[in-house]
Amino acid sequence: MTEFDTKLVHGKPQNDNNTGAVNVPIYNSSTYIYPSVESKVKYDYERSGNPTRGYLEDQVAQLENGVRGFAFSSGSAAIHAVLAIFKPGDHLIIGKEIYGGTFRIINDFFKRWKIEFTAVDTQNPEEIEAAIKPNTKAIYFESFTNPLLHVTSVKATAKVAKKYNLLTIVDNTFLSPYLQRPLNLGADIVIHSATKYLSGHSDVIAGMAVAKNQDIADRIYFNQNSIGSTLSPEDSNLVRRGIQTLAVRMDRHLSNAAKIVEFLQSRSEIAKIYYPGIKGSKDNEIATAETDGFGGIVSFELKDGLDSTKFVEGTSLIQLAVSLGAVESLIELPYKMTHAELSPEEQLKAGITHQLVRLSVGIEDPKDLITDLAKSLDNLA
Ligand SMILES: *Cc1c(COP(=O)(O)O)cnc(C)c1O
Repeated sequence: MTEFDTKLVHGKPQNDNNTGAVNVPIYNSSTYIYPSVESKVKYDYERSGNPTRGYLEDQVAQLENGVRGFAFSSGSAAIHAVLAIFKPGDHLIIGKEIYGGTFRIINDFFKRWKIEFTAVDTQNPEEIEAAIKPNTKAIYFESFTNPLLHVTSVKATAKVAKKYNLLTIVDNTFLSPYLQRPLNLGADIVIHSATKYLSGHSDVIAGMAVAKNQDIADRIYFNQNSIGSTLSPEDSNLVRRGIQTLAVRMDRHLSNAAKIVEFLQSRSEIAKIYYPGIKGSKDNEIATAETDGFGGIVSFELKDGLDSTKFVEGTSLIQLAVSLGAVESLIELPYKMTHAELSPEEQLKAGITHQLVRLSVGIEDPKDLITDLAKSLDNLA
């Protein structure tokens, strides 16, 4: 069993139940029997280890090609447990366009624990190198950013990191291991909000982290077990089940996104489209070299004077909601919804205008999605 799509369906063979069940059972057990006081048991208490969660952790470690995986109660919990491997006085370089919740953990939480950081444009390796200080320990970024889909090269970033003995940490939520495997490109830790593509059905909040080597894995395991933000067996099973269909879902997300981009290009109401699949940009160049597809998120700006609120409220099949990466299409206005925490000045600096719309393209029939978008655009006239 070597091909990626086969691994998605089967995971690591279990051979651990007497019933012949084809799926790993949901082990709802917080504690486990010791045959004797002296026994070396594999499981003793669920926070430390659970077979259902363990199956998922092995599965994602295998897909990302790391030594060990960890499942958390949210993507944010995964990010917290990973960044908690650092200590007061350490300095981190972060991508300047990272998920808002991640910025909050770094800026409002870890700063209180005296971890310093500098935000840079990670698309530019010279800018990363210029920000390195004697106490710098890691570079943290998202290979596709939210909502503008700027692409950072994992290879070029990891090359700078290795030169200075820094860890490279990649949030791979937007691509999933189906489209990019950052550890193979030189990263040391990969993180997911499994709430998004890995589970894929908007029915669970979950996070994953995978370490490339044993030393890092040990440090993350210490945090996972001691902080205790672990994923429940029931939720581990939902993520496990989602992963089985990752390949077929992503293929449809990709083909639908490409068709929607083509449709948007044909419409006069659209001022600008952000999608790494569009040729002629540095984003496209890097994504072509380092990914197996351009993802399922399409952002675009309506022309000035068109009512963006009316537009996103005017779709009916495509629902108005935050989050992304699920089977159903979701649309939102970043300046009012996902990125409302930024001040107007910060929004402007980040390129988040009032005309910017983010669309998480689902796996519905693309004809229906295009009809829905067209109807709402027509209503703006
Ligand atoms: C959603 C998201 C997170 C946070 O994950 P939660 O599961 O919501 O805690 C982190 N990074 C990215 C890129 C995300 O989209």
